[in-house]
Amino acid sequence: MSTKEKSLNFIEQIIEDSLKEGMSPEKLHFRFPPEPNGYLHLGHASSICLNFGLGQKYNAPVNLRFDDTNPSKEEQEFVDAIKHDVEWLGYKWANEVYASDYFQQLYDWAVQLIKEGKAYVDSQTSEEMAQQKGTPTTVGVNSPYRDRSVEENLDLFERMKNGEFEEGTHILRAKIDMAHKNMLMRDPIMYRIIKKSHHRTKDKWCIYPMYDWAHGESDYLESISHSFCTLEFLPHRELYDWFLDQVCEEGKIRPMQREFARRNLSHTIVSKRKLAKLVNEGYVTGWDDPRMPTISGLRRRGYTPASIKNYADTIGIAKRDNLIDVSLLEFCVREDLNKITPRVMAVLDPVKLVITNYPEGQEEWLEAENNPEEEVMTFRKVPFSKELYIEREDFKEEANSKFFRLTLGKEVRLKNAYIIKGESVVKDENGNITEIHVTYDPESKSGSGTEASKRKVKGTIHWVSIPHAIEAEVRIYDRLFTSENPDGNKEVDFLEHINPQSLEVVKGYLEPSLKESKIGDKFQFQRLGYFCVDKDSTADKLIFNKTVGLRDTWAKLEQK
Ligand code: ATP
Ligand code: MG
Repeated sequence: MSTKEKSLNFIEQIIEDSLKEGMSPEKLHFRFPPEPNGYLHLGHASSICLNFGLGQKYNAPVNLRFDDTNPSKEEQEFVDAIKHDVEWLGYKWANEVYASDYFQQLYDWAVQLIKEGKAYVDSQTSEEMAQQKGTPTTVGVNSPYRDRSVEENLDLFERMKNGEFEEGTHILRAKIDMAHKNMLMRDPIMYRIIKKSHHRTKDKWCIYPMYDWAHGESDYLESISHSFCTLEFLPHRELYDWFLDQVCEEGKIRPMQREFARRNLSHTIVSKRKLAKLVNEGYVTGWDDPRMPTISGLRRRGYTPASIKNYADTIGIAKRDNLIDVSLLEFCVREDLNKITPRVMAVLDPVKLVITNYPEGQEEWLEAENNPEEEVMTFRKVPFSKELYIEREDFKEEANSKFFRLTLGKEVRLKNAYIIKGESVVKDENGNITEIHVTYDPESKSGSGTEASKRKVKGTIHWVSIPHAIEAEVRIYDRLFTSENPDGNKEVDFLEHINPQSLEVVKGYLEPSLKESKIGDKFQFQRLGYFCVDKDSTADKLIFNKTVGLRDTWAKLEQK
């Protein structure tokens, strides 16, 4: 193998084996099968990157299949959001398909199974059926309805379909084996009655197929060659195959189910049910709250498609469940934003600085580099004046020699501007500093070519000119959960781990070049981190989200 080629992961190996066994490459066909009962999250991103990534690698089509078999939880809003997210990640599906497209075919096949004596209508309560199920070590008990005649089954099933019965009164079961060592093979449910309108088929159906019955048959109808799902479906594979055995015809593609491990992220929840709880109970502002691990939340927070794909590629896929440290995701977004974002100056915790020897009323527009990572440098102008804001933490009256920022009697450079020296402070009656007075060296202007402009001082700090500054609301986020694995302990509800301080809102002062910024625009606020314009931002009220800090400050805190 050449060093350029990455070694195959075990999923790619499965595909290579199929090809070696004679499957023609044109027959390869994959799918991503979300259930439209919530927004996509980072776990789904892994599955999307896996399936669509295989499509790209093998030049094979990938279907986006909505697994819409449960009308009580599914909605068009979720379908639209899922499509938007997959497109935003940069993938194109070959076909947009729905399990509900196949309701008639699935029904017809169910009738065929009844006729062949392989399915029956059970009319017991769910409690009775649960009691008969047995345990992994004891066999189950046959239902008293198991030997209903084909005619009676056909009649009841049709009447179930026609809406003659109430929910929970009858179900259709496959007739397999109540003593099977795999509990899922003990006469599994194929259909239940749900009297709810479906977001696509409306009131046409009041019986709905179960996942196990619908999934493999949908794969078959779409000629999916490899159906990759998460590990919890491993025991379902036998049933998947049994159902396929009933309908597969010679010469057609027979889909193959294979499993990979779910991806879990530290300090995060990746379960739609639990994310829905956060939304519905108001712990967050919505599915796209920038603290949510949803793709829409990450997008609003300022994450890029490249960063999410890079994250998914880096963790790859695994055969066993594991917890990925969220700092890896943050590393990926920082790496991407470092390349693409313009550098600007903003002050989020301001203290006023007055340059006593700078002429009153004077302003200068100084040259500032947009992004040192750019191949061809570009510049913008930033205004400078006598009164500036700097960050409160960039000044100490007295400090030890390790403090490379502003102190009294020492020099520091103002980014893109002059060298200043701390002279004195003004305090209020409580002893809080309200103004810092400094003097500047007029010869030291950055880039002016003078000796003083090249003079090296220990530190450089950022600033914003007070008369020119624009104000913005800046939303600073912390982890939504304080525990590394909020879902890890089944005894403790995940809500107990919610971080009550996950959102801090501050007023920021920004350089005026940011005035025209648009929703979604991304910047590096120098020395502070990466920020983007929130979707609620307007021309009158700019709102920024902090995407991520410049360094992994969290890891440092935890070491303390
Ligand atoms: P959830 O538990 O959040 O509801 P799900 O598996 O029920 O997840 P689906 O919409 O059914 O959600 O999932 C669509 C696809 O995404 C499935 O193939 C599923 O296996 C995959 N998937 C879901 N969560 C993860 C995860 N954490 N890691 C990898 N793949 C995932
Ligand atoms: Mg599911």
